[in-house]
Amino acid sequence: MPFPPPEEIKITYTTADVDLSAFHHYFDEALAKIRDEFGQRHSLHIDGASVEVDRPTLANVSPIDTDLVLGHFQSATPAEVDRAVAAARSARKTWSGMPWQERVALMRKAADLVRQRKFEIAAIMSVEVGKNRFESIGDAEESADLIDYYCDQMQQANGFIREMNQITPIETNTDILRPYGVFACIAPFNFPMALSCGMSSAALVAGNTLVYKPATDTPWTGLKLYEIYRDAGLPSGVFNFITGRGSEIGDAIVEHKHVDGVVFTGSKPVGMRMFHRLSERWVKPCLMELGGKNPAIVMDSADLEAAASGVAKSAWGLQNQKCSACSRVYVHQKVADDFVKLLLEQTNEVVIGDPSQKDIYLGPVINEAAVRKYEQAVAQAKADGEILVGGKRLTDGALAKGHYVAPTIVKAPLESTLFTEEFFVPILAVGVIESLDQALEESNKVEYGLTAGLFSANEDEIAQFYDEIEAGVTYVNKRSGATTGAWPGAQPFCGWKGSGGSGKGGCGPYYVAQFMREQCRTRIRE
Ligand code: NAP
Repeated sequence: MPFPPPEEIKITYTTADVDLSAFHHYFDEALAKIRDEFGQRHSLHIDGASVEVDRPTLANVSPIDTDLVLGHFQSATPAEVDRAVAAARSARKTWSGMPWQERVALMRKAADLVRQRKFEIAAIMSVEVGKNRFESIGDAEESADLIDYYCDQMQQANGFIREMNQITPIETNTDILRPYGVFACIAPFNFPMALSCGMSSAALVAGNTLVYKPATDTPWTGLKLYEIYRDAGLPSGVFNFITGRGSEIGDAIVEHKHVDGVVFTGSKPVGMRMFHRLSERWVKPCLMELGGKNPAIVMDSADLEAAASGVAKSAWGLQNQKCSACSRVYVHQKVADDFVKLLLEQTNEVVIGDPSQKDIYLGPVINEAAVRKYEQAVAQAKADGEILVGGKRLTDGALAKGHYVAPTIVKAPLESTLFTEEFFVPILAVGVIESLDQALEESNKVEYGLTAGLFSANEDEIAQFYDEIEAGVTYVNKRSGATTGAWPGAQPFCGWKGSGGSGKGGCGPYYVAQFMREQCRTRIRE
């Protein structure tokens, strides 16, 4: 029987209700295709033109095998930033002046192109980030759904144009949300397509133009996003693609006087730096989704199989390098031993290796700095508690070529900073609690407030969890991922406290409006 077309194979982070032989067939095909493109030199794209920088390029190396150079990317300087901002600024009038219905039509074309190219994009992410096949295709699929979801928002709000009340019979009052102008869009490495796509598509559909910078570890995926917008027909200058180190050009982007707002997803320290630097002459919008230290709470009434499965999936998926990853568990003392036994079983079953290959679940961490972070956290775990599994870098056979580390569970006293610091590597701290009150107090004591999960069969406990947990994304009894797996239109993704800035998350119904400012138009007809 022939395989269904790729567009019909829909896999999310929690569902894969499809013919897997077709999925693997298309994935293998895409991998073979992208292998032919390894090692190429790539430009910046400013105002529709390719731009080269007169300085050494940055090698994009695979975390799976550091001998594998995926490409050579430009290392932009403040001069290219200036050029990109100028291009975005001159494209503002055309883009914001276009009827919103036409912008929506172009963006929907971009969503279609993402779906058509999703296997290629997924294969690239697999070798560039070290994502397994299912995580990679989920990232690509989510990207297309994000664009459509934000287009829906524009349509449902009638382009955010609304007639208002009349105070006198001779007036008409219209309220319009209008774009700010030029947004800087700066993305992290871990969901290089979905987050870049989500942030940029909301800003674009609202009528802003963009200067986009992907993470230095994942420029190739970022380039694919540029190509999608170009091929969908966005006018030159609307979406400008620059690569370069955040430490070198980040301030130049954020402090640029013609950047009207910033949309950023990444770590809290970088986000806070941007926040403090962005607004000088007046307050500019700064939409930020930041780090997390996401707890799962396992109560004595919980289905322990479901809890162990949910925690393992959220702890080891993408090597714990998701902002929503579960990195701490608070388990009730009555079930602690049974739960930990099941969690260890699940962890020991994790298959580690080259994640672009079929049946591999856990790949490498992103770079050598992440390995060092892991080693520091392991040393701390040895000092503070007891390592139950893992705790070492993996160097057997082909693993020696990449950034591989063992998934690690540490049982530690609740006062250990293993429960409060975001490591972003596969280390899970387990602590024993005596009550839900205590688990909530421990959960809420950190500076972050992104996702949280509860496993309980007790309705009162579930109600208390929802009411008292300080987190924007909450899950109860989610076997497919205790703290992970949000999807556009289903689970709005809003970080509280140090996990985000705007109070209205991506994937949610209030996102697009944040890229616009209000103008009231009163007209008198005597
Ligand atoms: P990161 O180190 O903060 O980097 C994110 C982006 O910021 C990269 O493009 C980086 O460029 C750039 N950057 C670095 N320094 C900068 C500066 N001074 N000014 C402007 N930009 C600068 O984060 P990451 O390691 O890529 O991603 C992991 C972090 O993101 C974690 O903390 C995770 O929790 C968070 N995250 C949050 C969410 C969410 O939705 N809340 C989602 C995903 C990830 P370079 O790559 O060139 O350094």
